[in-house]
Amino acid sequence: MSKFINPRLGRLETYVPGEQPKDQQYIKLNTNELPYPPSPEVIARVNAAQVADLRLYSDPTCGGLVEKLARQYDVAPENVFVGNGSDEVLNFAFACYCRAGAAFADLTYGFYGVFAELYGIDADIKPLRDDFSIDPADYMNVGKAVVIANPNAPTGLVLPVETIEAIVRSNPDHVVIIDEAYVDFGATSVVPLTKKYENLLVASTFSKSRALAGARVGFGIGNEALIRDLNRIKFTTNPYNINRLSLVAAEAALDSQAYFDEKDRLVAQTRASATAALRALGFETTDSMANFIFAKSDRIGGGDLYRQLKARGILVRHFDTARIKDFVRITVGTPAEMDALLGAINDILNSLD
Ligand SMILES: *Cc1c(COP(=O)(O)O)cnc(C)c1O
Repeated sequence: MSKFINPRLGRLETYVPGEQPKDQQYIKLNTNELPYPPSPEVIARVNAAQVADLRLYSDPTCGGLVEKLARQYDVAPENVFVGNGSDEVLNFAFACYCRAGAAFADLTYGFYGVFAELYGIDADIKPLRDDFSIDPADYMNVGKAVVIANPNAPTGLVLPVETIEAIVRSNPDHVVIIDEAYVDFGATSVVPLTKKYENLLVASTFSKSRALAGARVGFGIGNEALIRDLNRIKFTTNPYNINRLSLVAAEAALDSQAYFDEKDRLVAQTRASATAALRALGFETTDSMANFIFAKSDRIGGGDLYRQLKARGILVRHFDTARIKDFVRITVGTPAEMDALLGAINDILNSLD
């Protein structure tokens, strides 16, 4: 750090992304990417002509993509904001809506706490219950913004739509942000409720269920006044926030949604079979509706399992924090990748005897 940095910024804790080691080829089950490539449509449309057009700025309104998202989610274009990943949507929402503080879980997406610190927001941390479920009462009428990942990460657990609606209804003077990064793997979206409640903002992304993590495209859906707020922050920081190639890729992804729906169903099937196999090996797992499995064994700690899997060329995510240090979070890969994982875990457990 330089001596010139604003001391307040110099003290910030940064978000720690999952590792991307380059020393060898790994089976990568640590950052919840889709194990399948984007659709052929996406690959065909991001072509040489699109690259040649990179001399031109991208569309600052993201007009074409906004139109397609509006059609797909049955809302108006005025209800859609496009961000550089949903991280940017969340960033702008924290900047806009958390003056009175923000309530979120102790175990959830790590960026919420980072954004709260960045903006000097009072974080009202609500511990999950012992079984990692959310207690809805914690979020009723809290007098501040609410941020909930649904499904939650790293647990994969889901709140029913009616529960989210009750939370939204009980906080009419504050924005409730529902982060649906993983909703396409089996949960139900609350986007339809945005027509009914002016204080509901849904954040979502092309990174997980649409295999475009590297393109950095996310979106927010909500009342048109909320969307204008987010655009206000965008146009005071980075008006061309989505690059041309990513806009083309994201539009092509929506034009081939059936391909992704099929891959997401396949991931859900693989999640079910891998979960059953892990349970047969004595693991305890949450009932994840996301594209990852959160699992622990009473025979080996999470950190040890993570290290031994890495030594065998398989990356999973371990969070070294008190409540979940016994767990690993395993992204659902292809059936072959999960077979390799289960074989490696079997070897590791056998070597303990
Ligand atoms: C991955 C993830 C995101 C952000 O993804 P982007 O790549 O920035 O769209 C947001 N929320 C949760 C819970 C995530 O796991």
